[in-house]
Amino acid sequence: MSVRLDTKRDPDGGWYDRYVELVDDEGRVVKEFGKNPTLNELREAEREYGERINLWQQGLICSDCGNQINERFSADLEGNLLCWDCASEEDSSDQSGLRVNADPTKSVLSESKLYEKSLCDYVINVATGCRHGCKFCYVPSTPAIQNREEMLGDKAGVEDGQQEWGSYLLYRDDLPERLNEGLQDNPWEDWDKTDRGRGVVMLSSGTDCYQDKRAAQITRSCVHELVSNDVPVRILTRSPNLLRDMDLFRKAGEYVTVGMSIPSFDDELVRAMEPNAPPPMQRWKALEKLSKNQVRRFVSFSPTYPTMDEEEIHEALSWFSALGPEVVFHEPINPRGANFEMCVEAAENAGRQQLADDLRSMEDESIWKEYALEHIKLVRDCARRFDNIQIHSWPSRDLVRATKGETRSWLLTLREEVSPEQHPQ
Ligand code: SF4
Ligand SMILES: [Zn+2]
Repeated sequence: MSVRLDTKRDPDGGWYDRYVELVDDEGRVVKEFGKNPTLNELREAEREYGERINLWQQGLICSDCGNQINERFSADLEGNLLCWDCASEEDSSDQSGLRVNADPTKSVLSESKLYEKSLCDYVINVATGCRHGCKFCYVPSTPAIQNREEMLGDKAGVEDGQQEWGSYLLYRDDLPERLNEGLQDNPWEDWDKTDRGRGVVMLSSGTDCYQDKRAAQITRSCVHELVSNDVPVRILTRSPNLLRDMDLFRKAGEYVTVGMSIPSFDDELVRAMEPNAPPPMQRWKALEKLSKNQVRRFVSFSPTYPTMDEEEIHEALSWFSALGPEVVFHEPINPRGANFEMCVEAAENAGRQQLADDLRSMEDESIWKEYALEHIKLVRDCARRFDNIQIHSWPSRDLVRATKGETRSWLLTLREEVSPEQHPQ
């Protein structure tokens, strides 16, 4: 059964008075929304009926000014639909003090360098900002934030996108509609693909696509659009919220692979470094549920901290092994960004002096190089003790530059590798 929106004006009411219904192929009403349904209600209906519901040109209207929603839209904190003009005037904080607004970014499917990590060729970011606020996060030091400080100032009163990372979040509510339009205008066969990225689209590289319900709703609709167009999708998150879309993942079969970032199972350490993200064991349990449902899955073991020894790495891998992942991506921490000092402070504030000292010592490139090489080797060696773990290492460019001879050649080989996953072509 496919469903679509049907909007009828109330003959006795004014311009704003219209009834919104969901009807099936034969015009039968399957759901009555009443007048002016919220964005939340509309997106949840997609989940309930397992169908994509395009919100453009359906007779829906802005809850503020009454204009029809024919192009860009967003919502207020209560979820009421807003046209783009009205959304642009919104600026508010949610219950947790997070500054929230609509994201004016025009990009939908962005080309990505992440093919170098054999992750994807394109990314879709469902928001700008991230409520998890991980200390080591490289996103606030990238142009996606650095070049947009003026917009972030206007939209969320942000003065320093890096320092305030984790306290602002601008949603891209109409991404699914824009993605639908983009894929109709340019069929997927015509998009460039690389050998290592293999035409995969990843959600999300610059935010957590399941960090809350609103982000999850955008994500679900985008994934639905993508798999309907035979686009292979990779989902990477730290949020067990993704389990709400198990039906979609099961239906998508080989087209969707889902992964969790689990850098360590040390709760206290993870809480210090990723202050607002769910605990690692919750992430593992979410992957376990995906495993039981035969959903394709992977783990991102990143970043591993210098205090982690062979025993801790072996233990983490044994947890991963129980999940039967297609691949475990691994990366040592790279303390080169502006966020490095924040990582050290977070470790100190959490009473993890050894970690703080180890991190600080890595300001000396030779010490960092030694740790990074040791961890890459250690993780690969430990993985050989399990018959179902394949490691895909991510040595950074900095590490390659810092090495010579055989070590350098070996790292370059690792960088050129294609992950062992099989994606539909
Ligand atoms: S969840 Fe990802 S995007 Fe969000 S702060 Fe953490 S590392 Fe950055
Ligand atoms: Zn309006």
